[in-house]
Amino acid sequence: MLKEKRRLCPECKGQIEPGHTDMVYELKGIKITIKYVTANICSKCGQSFVSGHVAEEVNRLVNRVNEDVNSFIKTQPETGKRHKEVAIAV
Ligand SMILES: [Zn+2]
Repeated sequence: MLKEKRRLCPECKGQIEPGHTDMVYELKGIKITIKYVTANICSKCGQSFVSGHVAEEVNRLVNRVNEDVNSFIKTQPETGKRHKEVAIAV
């Protein structure tokens, strides 16, 4: 196992600290926000870095949610230009 070293932000060379971030996706006019995703956050510029494994899991969740939201929307009468939004906090 590789031990993860303390990294510096490629943008500003600030210190990267463990934290959480919100990941926002826009799919077919539906905004999907996954809140409180484990990430590393630059303490200087606020840039967030999500590990490949976590990003993969979030993508899977978003794809699943997107399918479910789309089938749910088909049951709803069209109510004009209402902004559709889904937020998930884990
Ligand atoms: Zn930075």
